[in-house]
Amino acid sequence: MLRAEHPEIMWGLGLDPDTVALIEKSAGPGFALRNLPPDALPWMRGQEGCGQAAWIPLEVWRGLSKVRRKACREVDTVRRILIVPEEAEPLETEEVLSEGFLSAVRAPLTRYKVRDALLRLRELDSLSADLRRKTEEVMLERELLARKSSHLSFLNRVLSRASASLDVGTILSKVRGDLRHLLPVEALCAVFWTRIEGGAGLDAEMYLHCRMAPPEHEAWGEVLRSGAERLAGVRVRECRQFCLTGGGRHMAKAPAPDSGRLLMLPLSAGGESFGCLALLTSKGLRLAKDQVETLNAAVNHLALALRNALLYRQVKSMADHDGLTGIANRRRFEERLEEEARRHGRYDLPLSLILLDIDHFKRINDTHGHQTGDAVLRGVAGLLAESLRGTDFPARYGGEEFAVILPHTSREQALLLAERIRQRVSQREFGQGETLVRLTVSAGVSALGSGEGGPELVSLADQALYLAKDGGRNRVVVAAPAEGAAGLGCANVSAPVVPAEAKAPEERLRAGGGM
Ligand code: GH3
Ligand code: MG
Ligand code: MG
Repeated sequence: MLRAEHPEIMWGLGLDPDTVALIEKSAGPGFALRNLPPDALPWMRGQEGCGQAAWIPLEVWRGLSKVRRKACREVDTVRRILIVPEEAEPLETEEVLSEGFLSAVRAPLTRYKVRDALLRLRELDSLSADLRRKTEEVMLERELLARKSSHLSFLNRVLSRASASLDVGTILSKVRGDLRHLLPVEALCAVFWTRIEGGAGLDAEMYLHCRMAPPEHEAWGEVLRSGAERLAGVRVRECRQFCLTGGGRHMAKAPAPDSGRLLMLPLSAGGESFGCLALLTSKGLRLAKDQVETLNAAVNHLALALRNALLYRQVKSMADHDGLTGIANRRRFEERLEEEARRHGRYDLPLSLILLDIDHFKRINDTHGHQTGDAVLRGVAGLLAESLRGTDFPARYGGEEFAVILPHTSREQALLLAERIRQRVSQREFGQGETLVRLTVSAGVSALGSGEGGPELVSLADQALYLAKDGGRNRVVVAAPAEGAAGLGCANVSAPVVPAEAKAPEERLRAGGGM
């Protein structure tokens, strides 16, 4: 019989030559038997998982010392078959198994017995291979479940923290910290956009890390701008930038966007894309499939939290601003005045107020129509905004009346400013298209006295404004300092106070000419 090219090795321990020949012949050409002397321990190192057969006669086994038998039992890559002499007492299965044998075959060996023993060994091997595979599957499943559960708790944390705030900057700062539990975040910036009416471009707002050197700042701005344009398919026309604070010591460096792997994560809600997170991670980062899935799920849900925050801000802004002129409305003005009055009262800092009313505005409406009137109102609001410092607070107080809160501003400085505004208005044309009109304004100025609050400030400015109107319009009147907190009235309103640089009121009247 021809031996196979790579026969499977079987082992024998102290077998007589006849038994060797019989086993080899019965097993067939796919097997080769290597018979070792009984004292050849440790012997027959099988290959892991291969399960080579080893034939051992009972008398040889019993002839081994305890130590050798133990050493033999510990070779678990070999499947031992016990050859029991024909005349020996029957052996209990338990006894056979406890000695580390898989089965016992009684002599005389036959072809059938040898093949049957090898077949059972094969079955056992395939069973144990199945078992091993199943165990591995269970372990893998357990590992996956553990990862899934840690990803779920990560998502839960990210989302509940993001949903707890309605402030875009706060959400982004929290997200930046939370994402670090999933991947090594070096920096996070974001851009949101709305389409300018008519689809001519994007009105974008960027959230950038606070601690950035100018080159990094510029590079991130470019990354966000090009990201927004790529995703929205139109160019950015307007752009505002906001500073992202927090992030702890990890964010202290503010690295450049090309210093690692940059992930651009689009944000969309209701099928409409409105922003993008730019996430800088460490160079060469490779994300596992489940990490990508978790990141995508986090970003999809974050998009909703961010969309809500943006909508909330929009609604709040609408509630705080006048729809026609875009500056703060009366409600917001009163809120802000109270805040400023409290702060300035507490630290005894100067705070002033200008109330400003367009002269004979009704005539503009009557002569040129309400649309021109509206355009005039927008124009005056625009002129106010451009004449003020960032800390000053202009508002539409009512109809054609405006108010300006001037923190850290003395009565004299407020008077100068009101006078400058009065002059600017009188020198400009307002309206729309071909319909341009000239107009004047009257203003009342007041300053916060000790023990006074917002209502007193408004009341004094109002009385001063009344005197300005009464005095012929196109003029500024300043309320005199209060002598005491109580008893405020017209007595506290001075005749027009004319600063050295300003014209005399009579002159102003003449120059402005009223309407
Ligand atoms: P005075 O010099 O005394 O302030 O006279 P005036 O005409 O400016 O004041 P009056 O209070 O008599 O009229 C104010 C007008 O402002 C009446 C109102 O129709 C108009 N007005 C109020 N709100 C708006 C607005 O939103 N748009 C337009 N076009 N007109 C408005
Ligand atoms: Mg008026
Ligand atoms: Mg008025």
